Amino acid sequence: MPIRQLPDTLINQIAAGEVIERPASVVKELVENALDAGARRIDIDLEEGGVRLIRIRDDGSGIAPEELPLAVSRHATSKIASLDDLETVMTLGFRGEALPSIASVSRFALSSRRASDAYGSTLQVDGGRVASVAPTPHAIGTTVEVRDLFFNVPARRKFLRAERTELGHIEEWLRSLALARPDIELRVAHNGKPARRYKPDAAEPAARLLEALGEGFAEQALHIDHQGAGLRLRGWIAPPAYSRSGADQQYAYVNGRAVRDRGIAYAVKRAYQELLFHGRHPAYVLFLEIEPARVDVNVHPAKHEVRFREARLVHDFVYRTLYDALAGARADIAASMLP
Ligand code: ADP
Ligand code: MG
Repeated sequence: MPIRQLPDTLINQIAAGEVIERPASVVKELVENALDAGARRIDIDLEEGGVRLIRIRDDGSGIAPEELPLAVSRHATSKIASLDDLETVMTLGFRGEALPSIASVSRFALSSRRASDAYGSTLQVDGGRVASVAPTPHAIGTTVEVRDLFFNVPARRKFLRAERTELGHIEEWLRSLALARPDIELRVAHNGKPARRYKPDAAEPAARLLEALGEGFAEQALHIDHQGAGLRLRGWIAPPAYSRSGADQQYAYVNGRAVRDRGIAYAVKRAYQELLFHGRHPAYVLFLEIEPARVDVNVHPAKHEVRFREARLVHDFVYRTLYDALAGARADIAASMLP
């Protein structure tokens, strides 16, 4: 075969393979866009576990009508303009890949209106091809509608699981986002029925803890807030008595972004060593704050991994902070072992 340049739609479909694994990845990308746009309230409508429909409406800044086609173009973003910006980026997105990827593997509509616009506008994309742009009534903010995910990618559709499973993945992502942003109101409906509501509560972040993780964790968790070496670690960790049989209640964030970081997980595990029985796992919600230049968030298209410039320092800081916070628990155990 001769070498040829691939068409844009195919490039987007290939990229979608990395970013969009299942309905939950779509929800994650769209909710992150809403948060980056300054939304205070986000409404999520789902049908059939998100496979049939994902509709996300926000009250954020909106998009200029003439920029709607750009929003679904590859590598088009309003969030960075230079490599320097990448060093200091605080938004959740910056790669300009999510919308074109999603639009290339679904029947997609993007509607938006800014405060300065008299009307809203809707852009429709069908399997990656822009079908129409038209004025429509719309409240200030943005609505993204994603229907029939992977309708044109049978290999991917085959990997979708039962409705309940896909819904479970979406709920797990939303729980993780809800924990990071207690100031945001989130409403979820599934198959036309209200399924979940996170009330906004900026003043009392622990209230969100209760909503997201339930009474057991919220009542027993130890609050942490510690600074040093230009780092800050805050959040909640469960006492050893509240250990889990799985790693299900482990939430780590770096500058507000949910991450799976083996270094942090390892530091936590070490801090709990000797406090937990074999096979038991700690529960935690930890927010690490670090100067953006000291961490690289551009490691993977889905951005759930980061790379610290000083991995050792971060590990030691997390370990030390938790070790100290668990001093009481350690003393209790020691006392209970006295004759
Ligand atoms: P990224 O988030 O990496 O910039 P996306 O493909 O997710 O890339 O979005 C492309 C652009 O579309 C964003 O940079 C932003 O300007 C605009 N956009 C997407 N979603 C929204 C939204 N909900 N509200 C306002 N603007 C949005
Ligand atoms: Mg984005």
